[in-house]
Amino acid sequence: MKNYFKFSTLFTILIFSLISCEKDLTDDLTENTNSSTDINESIETINYDGKTLTVIKKEDNYILDGDIIIPISEVSDQSKSTGTTKSRWPGGVVYYVIDPNLFNKDRVTAAIEHWEKNTRIRFVKRTNQPNYVTFRQGSGCSSNVGMISVPQFITLGNSCSTASVIHEIGHTVGLYHEQNRKDRDKYVNILWENLPSDIITRSQFTRYDEFFNGEGNEYTAFDFGSIMMYNPFAFSINGKPTITKKDGSLYNANSRILSQKDKEGVRRMYFNNLLTAGNKLNKGNFRNSRDGRNYLKMQNDGNVVMYRDGKAVWSTRTNKTTSNRLVMQRDGNLVLYNINNRPTWASGTNGYPNSRLALLNNGDMVIISSSGTVIWSMRRGKLI
Ligand SMILES: [Zn+2]
Repeated sequence: MKNYFKFSTLFTILIFSLISCEKDLTDDLTENTNSSTDINESIETINYDGKTLTVIKKEDNYILDGDIIIPISEVSDQSKSTGTTKSRWPGGVVYYVIDPNLFNKDRVTAAIEHWEKNTRIRFVKRTNQPNYVTFRQGSGCSSNVGMISVPQFITLGNSCSTASVIHEIGHTVGLYHEQNRKDRDKYVNILWENLPSDIITRSQFTRYDEFFNGEGNEYTAFDFGSIMMYNPFAFSINGKPTITKKDGSLYNANSRILSQKDKEGVRRMYFNNLLTAGNKLNKGNFRNSRDGRNYLKMQNDGNVVMYRDGKAVWSTRTNKTTSNRLVMQRDGNLVLYNINNRPTWASGTNGYPNSRLALLNNGDMVIISSSGTVIWSMRRGKLI
């Protein structure tokens, strides 16, 4: 994987493995195909995140790229980003509920186990948390991308396998399909002539920056082995490949487990605990400690808050201000700037070039100089 995540985001899909020899798997991993036969669906054009998108309207959602869900409630009439689908799960903790009516709950349990064994993402049964995902019965296999601010689901048909669920959780964590990467044209050819003519299928082969908001990032190199990468023959109408390497050759798709790059991409997306010189933390984003228990968040209210196990333990006390980004400057000073580029808070540690901010597993947030010395700690700041 690798990928992109929205907001850092990452992937979706699934891929079928070798279609010819793994028919069941092919069926398992095909997401929301042929959904246009449902009479309750319609094709509509919407404005979302500043882009005009062609989507399928189904019940309370719009379906994009085959299996990416955009709640209708999130779409405004204006060509303006709502931002809500761009969020990752704070602390790398995904709260979830399994609907009692879901068929074969073991596949969910197995997929969660796979994620927890291979990444630091943790899945916790929801009690009263406002943001959580519900695994529910439905047709096809689908998910939102990232954590959103309205009820969200991973919808699973009976044929969705454990591998499918692993893939769908990838979307929920924030991953896009690998073949939708912005840079994919450097690595693959999309053979449009071998694809069906329906827009829903074809949209699954479109770069995400063309149909989404272009805000994803690629965290690792292109990965043909990603669980988010489609098989070379995915959706072929004539037995010829629909995706090849740039030189025209085929590749082996992985449709069952997270690849090494998938794991690395998620780690970089969620557990990059450093803010190095010249880096910034934008409003709405956060950094985690490597164990995922602590995170520093630049909140939408202008406050920068350090959380440990979900509880706020320190802040810059700049809530209700116009503060909008925290910058680790090259001079060693950690500075919070407002929308007019004026500082609203600073650590006062300028004079130590190329310092970095680190969130430690013990709950401390420290600034470390280029020589390795701790020159500031949140404990010297004001506790809230
Ligand atoms: Zn997908």
